[in-house]
Amino acid sequence: MMAFPDILARAEAGGQLSPADLAVLLGIERDEDLQALFQAAYRVKLGTVGNKVYFRGIVEFSNICRKDCYYCGIRRSNQAVERFQMTHAEIVNAAIWAYENDYGSLVLQSGERNDANFADFIADILTEVKVRTNGKLGITLSLGEQTEEVYRRWFACGAHRYLLRMETTNPRLYAQLHPADHSWVERRACLDRLRQAGYQVGTGVMIGLPGQTLDDLVHDLVFFKEQDIDMIGMGPYIVHQDTPMAQQVTDFDADRQLMLGLKMVAVARLYLRDVNIAATTALQALRHNGRELGLQAGANIIMPNVTDTKYREAYQLYSNKPCTNENSSMCRGCLQGRVQGIGESIGFGEWGDSPHFLRRQTTSAPVVQQ
Ligand code: SAH
Ligand code: SF4
Repeated sequence: MMAFPDILARAEAGGQLSPADLAVLLGIERDEDLQALFQAAYRVKLGTVGNKVYFRGIVEFSNICRKDCYYCGIRRSNQAVERFQMTHAEIVNAAIWAYENDYGSLVLQSGERNDANFADFIADILTEVKVRTNGKLGITLSLGEQTEEVYRRWFACGAHRYLLRMETTNPRLYAQLHPADHSWVERRACLDRLRQAGYQVGTGVMIGLPGQTLDDLVHDLVFFKEQDIDMIGMGPYIVHQDTPMAQQVTDFDADRQLMLGLKMVAVARLYLRDVNIAATTALQALRHNGRELGLQAGANIIMPNVTDTKYREAYQLYSNKPCTNENSSMCRGCLQGRVQGIGESIGFGEWGDSPHFLRRQTTSAPVVQQ
């Protein structure tokens, strides 16, 4: 087997990486090797997507969910959660705030609903946000599994990116994390629907799940490449005490989860090159500077929370979610300081689409781009 330094050098130079190579990179443990991995991934980031961080203001507008994922704090069966749903006006106001504060893009995320009222509700919001921001605010949706018709309708209303994490690309592990009526095959099919509808497609996984092996993580990366994914949103799994999965996890180790999450970011950057990769909030839930560490390991996107403070406490997918007492302005100032503190700049007012997506577009249909 080839040694770690050789594989890392080949990875940085843009050479082919086999699953065995990916496993070696993900398996490293020594501090100096980890630093070498992160630094190589950072150099590749500078060469492929640059040192600009793009902000996507995220509105987590409802914790009402029809699903019952075993790991998630807002799963349908969790009776300890007070359910909320922001109004149309509240969501539009949060979007305008993001626009006026130069965020460039917005993310709308919630629990999953598939009823017609919900599809209408989102369509109306998209239409109004597009008009009131002169078409200038980029919009990403993260609203779970939907029919092709609904995805197309929302795209026609102005959404142009969609995040749907596979959670794990191993169907057997997926089955252990979800009730029997949650289908890996259906979720996988949704990624194709999204691509067909014209979205920039984002996916990702949870990292450090009970029962997940290193080979599973390698397979996740290979899946992202094979599916030609444009954006990656992945983060460490974090226990939520009111979920069935909490019982399976007796040895939760925040440092280990954080390190595994950072290694995945770094290896994804080395392997996938020009995709957008988010430094997710889950990293910060494990360590105060987790998101900066994510940027330094190769991520280039941050999603500052622009949800009204009064709703934040009730949107806890996992425990210890940071910034639930802060408001949008505080989050803006704090993140700006953190990003600039590590010598990066912020692409204020820009969409910051993934170069990977733009490159594919130049060889296929044209895209309307700001
Ligand atoms: N309902 C939508 C969007 C909201 S959930 C959906 O599921 O796609 C957004 C993401 O939160 C999920 O994809 C999952 O990866 C993540 N998540 C949920 N519970 C989590 C936990 N305990 N730890 C870390 N991430 C979690
Ligand atoms: Fe609902 Fe998403 Fe949580 Fe699953 S992960 S229970 S779909 S909010």
